Amino acid sequence: MRIVIIGGVAGGMSAATRLRRLSEQDEIIVFEKGPYVSFANCGLPYHISKTIKNRSQLIVQTADSLSNRFNIDIRVNNEVTNIDRETKMISFNHDSQLEKLHYDKLILSLGSKPVIPQITGMNTQPNIFQLRNIPDLDQLMDNLNSDTKHVTVIGAGFIGMEVTENLVKRGISVNLIERSSHILPNLDIEMARFIENELRTNAVHIHTNSTVTKINNKVLYLNTGKSFTTDAIIMAAGVHPNSEIAVSAGIKVDDNNGIVVNHYFQTNDSDIYAIGDVINVPHQITKQKVLIPLAGPANRQGRQVADSINGLTIKNKPEVGTAIVKVFSKSAASTGISELQAKKMGINYHVVHTSVHNHASYYPSSSPLSLKLIFTNSGSIIGAQAVGNSGVDKRIDIIATAIKFGLNVDDLPELELTYAPQFGSAKDPIHISGYAAENIINHLSHNIHI
Ligand code: FAD
Repeated sequence: MRIVIIGGVAGGMSAATRLRRLSEQDEIIVFEKGPYVSFANCGLPYHISKTIKNRSQLIVQTADSLSNRFNIDIRVNNEVTNIDRETKMISFNHDSQLEKLHYDKLILSLGSKPVIPQITGMNTQPNIFQLRNIPDLDQLMDNLNSDTKHVTVIGAGFIGMEVTENLVKRGISVNLIERSSHILPNLDIEMARFIENELRTNAVHIHTNSTVTKINNKVLYLNTGKSFTTDAIIMAAGVHPNSEIAVSAGIKVDDNNGIVVNHYFQTNDSDIYAIGDVINVPHQITKQKVLIPLAGPANRQGRQVADSINGLTIKNKPEVGTAIVKVFSKSAASTGISELQAKKMGINYHVVHTSVHNHASYYPSSSPLSLKLIFTNSGSIIGAQAVGNSGVDKRIDIIATAIKFGLNVDDLPELELTYAPQFGSAKDPIHISGYAAENIINHLSHNIHI
């Protein structure tokens, strides 16, 4: 059987290597329009400040190393331009030649592309960048020099935050523009405020409720009436699923252009599968179909789709969406839904906020950890957010696991977690959050909303 994969990074290469591990016989061909496969896209922002020193560290594998190790035919600089479902042929561009190839099964791991807000004057403005891949990074690095004093980052989501931090570490002044009322819109406002303070401490100029309306001769104008001069702009205003070639082939997408797949990642064409940023997945809490453009799901789905094709039919479970970002000395993470989402959905929810130390306060370098737990009247956990200097990942990972496997708030104090003074407390922040939530459910304490 010939299995063709379009997209050779997170989901695509996970699928390719798992396919090979499951079958020696199948012919596996990966098409990647860029020059690299399997590069570390999540590490790209850290080369700006040289936290990741060498560009080569971001190229985790090469097409040759993967081909040799796994006997996979990997074709970089090959863009697939068309899928003909009738004849099961793809068309692809290589060295300006259009060629065709037959497939038996096709996997789409096409990723996403950045949202580019339309701004008057942007077409004549040089130095507008995005950061999705190594060529984008090269272009940015080639243009950042000692004359670059000031950069504007449009979008204060996770990637915008990482880019901002690394520009500041490079000695560049940053204006951060966010159209929502607060940065990191996945978080609720009071949790995002901790990170806003951290950004301000590091001299980042934050403009919320703001959009860029015009650029003229390096001067950037905001809807709020403010304007300032900038040497460069980096677009980090979110992503769209990159589903155009699928749509042209009659593959079904939802209103948000995410490809519709079943539990086995099959599209409306049973020989065409899709995974990663380009698909909609069922959300465990909201039950809606959502995009979760994160590396973890893409890698897992890559493995699962290979399993499905090889008859190991493991259903994809609904997703909860768990993410983390580091901003200077603080980290912020979330899982499940936010309070704002719960409100919008009309869910009867409660929240508890706890602020306790990440580990025993008497042990050196302990620091406060703010944890927010969102749960229903029946105690079902529907979301959590945490901000702190250390230990944020551990707590949100625990709650993400609790949500995924249906634990209630009264299960949290039962969790037997590792403890020594360097790592936690005998009553961990997770336990305390569970106790506080139990008190609310049992009407022993009440929330006061101000
Ligand atoms: P991708 O890994 O993006 O791969 C898609 C590939 O398909 C691309 O290389 C593209 O060139 C190729 N392609 C598309 N169309 C065609 C075509 N027609 N022909 C041939 N090839 C094609 N996620 C996290 O969970 N944590 C993080 O810290 C994190 N940080 C990130 C930082 C940055 C700067 C970026 C850009 C992303 C980050 N992500 C992070 C998101 C994560 O990288 C993605 O969710 C993940 O890579 C998605 O995997 P994918 O296989 O769907 O798409």
